[in-house]
Amino acid sequence: MGTALCKRHCAFCQHHSDGSNERTSTPQQAGSSFYVNPSALQNRHVTLYNYKPRISKDLMVKEGEEIEILSREGEWALVQKVEDGGGENQVKEGYVPSSFVAEIGSLAAARWFFGSMIHVDVKRCLLRAENQNGSFLVWQNKEMNDIYFLSVRYGDIVKHYEIKDKANFQNLSRLINNYSNEAGYLCTRLTEPCVKLDRPSISTLARVVEWEIQYSSLQKGDLIGQGQFGEVWKGIWNCTTEVAIKELKGVDSKLKKEFLEEAEIMKQLHHERLIKLLAVCTDSEPFCIVTELMTKGNLHKYLKSHSEIRNLDISLLNGFAIQIAEGMVYLEERCCVHRDLRTENVLLTEMLCCKISDFGLARLLKSDRYSISYDAKVPIKWMAPEIFHDQSYTTKSDVWSFGVLLTEIITYGGVPFPDKKSHEFVKDLMEEVTISPPADFPDDLRDIVLQCWNHSSEKRPTFEELQTMLMNCNPMLKTVEFLSLT
Ligand code: ATP
Repeated sequence: MGTALCKRHCAFCQHHSDGSNERTSTPQQAGSSFYVNPSALQNRHVTLYNYKPRISKDLMVKEGEEIEILSREGEWALVQKVEDGGGENQVKEGYVPSSFVAEIGSLAAARWFFGSMIHVDVKRCLLRAENQNGSFLVWQNKEMNDIYFLSVRYGDIVKHYEIKDKANFQNLSRLINNYSNEAGYLCTRLTEPCVKLDRPSISTLARVVEWEIQYSSLQKGDLIGQGQFGEVWKGIWNCTTEVAIKELKGVDSKLKKEFLEEAEIMKQLHHERLIKLLAVCTDSEPFCIVTELMTKGNLHKYLKSHSEIRNLDISLLNGFAIQIAEGMVYLEERCCVHRDLRTENVLLTEMLCCKISDFGLARLLKSDRYSISYDAKVPIKWMAPEIFHDQSYTTKSDVWSFGVLLTEIITYGGVPFPDKKSHEFVKDLMEEVTISPPADFPDDLRDIVLQCWNHSSEKRPTFEELQTMLMNCNPMLKTVEFLSLT
């Protein structure tokens, strides 16, 4: 892999000046360039997204560029590409995230292939304003034994076609080409692949960056949020990378050790439905948490902004709930309790994908400070009854909060139990009064919420069960048609 280019161009490429056959890319070579024959790239891959260098050894790439992978280091790939350097071709070399590249001729490299998805997300993506009639994508349904579907936007609806035959790049490409020429069996001719806005998260700031970073490497921009534990700023790390910076107010030194231990645990939590913690600043005050930046803010704000006209499709709302449950399944499997699950702590990507925030470190901070009071800042109405009895937070108390979160979603960010003051609400809980969602709540979701609000915590469903129940509320669309590739 990667050696063919060097054997042909040793005179130029510096790699084998010692005559060795082994490609050993030293840090000095990464990010460098040299002249080469353009046909030399081997092990051909294509870049799926633009990547702007974050540190000096990184390589700038644009979506759709041909590159060669030389080696892989965890989440990063050392790659080279041939560039027209004013008449002469140059090879440039450096690091890019591995998830940003795919082998040419593989399904992953096709612009229309979206990988493993759930149908509500497919619909949400295709109905975005950036897409048009005939926009399409091919995806794989995890819940249905990895069956492949072709989904097409037709006006304001989405049609799904199950692909019956074995799917691979060749026959799927042929299928896409055929239906791009004429609609044939489909509702409409295929036009453009669905727009992809979100890039895969990268779990570290850069390839060789320590967990602890210097406060001076951060530049604060706009204030984007304010929580109980500090202010959240839009910021730039190392003059290159957009991040969110949460500056913690008054974290005393006795918390520091625990804080760092918890940060270590959070480092291990990687899931597309959880906010990525990228770095911390704890060497001096102010302590900071650096996370990926979520451009659309929190789900509560988003729902509120649509509360006047209430124009969001129920499948979009259901999709939010499914995604949050998906993130919670991951935490549940790791016995990680959130303690503060509500729409304000769910953040949205550009593509309106949900990521749960405020877990882990927040839990630690809160455990010291959350005394049960009727203070407006304590999320009384999201709290399970057992918390008022003995302050025991478990995954099942998160399930209770998830039921409340479902009512927030369906009521477009409405205050839960609006006709009850906090102390009245707690009194009801203590007396085991059955509480119910609003009268106009959809029946299938009402049943789920009531299960979450079982006073006996062990009788509440798990997040895994909740995810399945929510998926069943939105059964695979009745518009599924069968499409044969043969
Ligand atoms: P609380 O405990 O009251 O929830 P907090 O001090 O833990 O507050 P956060 O909930 O983490 O603070 O953040 C407050 C607000 O800042 C969020 O509701 C959100 O609007 C914004 N925010 C936080 N993190 C990000 C991020 N990574 N990207 C974009 N906005 C963010």
